Amino acid sequence: MTTLDDLPIRDDLRGRSPYGAPQKAVPVALNVNENTHPIPEAVAHDIVARVAAAILQLNRYPDREFSELRAAFAGYLGHDLRAAQIWAANGSNEVLQHVLQAFGGPGRTALGFGPTYSMYGLLSSGTGTAWVEAPRDAEFELGPETAVAAIREHDPDLVLLCSPNNPTGTPLSHETIAAVVDAARGIVVVDEAYHEFADPGTPSALELLEGRPRLIVSRTMSKAFAFAGARVGYLAADPAVVDALRLVRLPYHLSALTQAAALAALDHSAEMLAMVDDIRGQRERISDELSRLGFHPYRSGANFVLFGGVDEPHRVFEALLARGILIRDIGLPGCLRVTAGTEAETTAFLEAIAEFAPRGD
Ligand code: PMP
Repeated sequence: MTTLDDLPIRDDLRGRSPYGAPQKAVPVALNVNENTHPIPEAVAHDIVARVAAAILQLNRYPDREFSELRAAFAGYLGHDLRAAQIWAANGSNEVLQHVLQAFGGPGRTALGFGPTYSMYGLLSSGTGTAWVEAPRDAEFELGPETAVAAIREHDPDLVLLCSPNNPTGTPLSHETIAAVVDAARGIVVVDEAYHEFADPGTPSALELLEGRPRLIVSRTMSKAFAFAGARVGYLAADPAVVDALRLVRLPYHLSALTQAAALAALDHSAEMLAMVDDIRGQRERISDELSRLGFHPYRSGANFVLFGGVDEPHRVFEALLARGILIRDIGLPGCLRVTAGTEAETTAFLEAIAEFAPRGD
């Protein structure tokens, strides 16, 4: 049987592992930070109608510039953004891949602050970019001094910030982001995949775009928008950055079906985002209850909670899985991560985890 090692694969890909969050059919799946609420049926019917109309024209290539969609994202984001400042792709993973293809590459370095989203390292290796993970402050926070010191040390071509950060949930202050942009000579990405779950009134890095042409803010429809299966991510930046991304995208990378579905969903953004308050409430419930049980939940502005104080995380992960509850063992000592689901899913998780409480119940 042929194995990977027998193939003439690139040397820098030898020995690497692909992204591998388990995909298992379980009653309670709280492992990949999806929105576990289905999209409203009335919205689904509208999406179907729009996709149906697009199907009649599938003999033609889609709008390569996805102009209507870019205008719709600009409208959704506000902050006086123009369509020329928007880019989109099949999930924010592909958006970030475009950024690394355009601004990273062989001989260049991307810097992040670990633990952070595992795809940053994989996207870097896929594009031949060196990936460096600098440490965070206590409690996984990231202050301006720590961030700037790492930039001075590593002199990166790209800095990938994640706010709120996956897997820790930690939001970043404007002060840290602005200090990073000032200190770095290259592109700075703020990945705001989970921004909509932050406490109401939390400012977005979009506020910092004006006058900072090396700053990119990326977002996704996969989380708050409950649209993970459609694969739609986007970013806002200076129009010159968008011009750079056009150089690396595949022509017609966003299918007509994807564009139609995303446009219909954006037309109903209020309904699509209706469950966000509820999910934030479940997140708070998880943090409060885990604290009461003697675990150590970290500060989260996202739809998930990382918690420490777990003896043998992998054993606890397996024990919950045996009960049909899938959470995430991200390999951090003493820690596990759980997504805030529906009230019933959250209850199932909290009841199961109570058995492993440091403090007993
Ligand atoms: N950024 C972060 C921080 C994420 O956690 C994820 C999904 N897990 C993504 C980006 C990518 O999401 P998508 O490709 O579905 O937009």
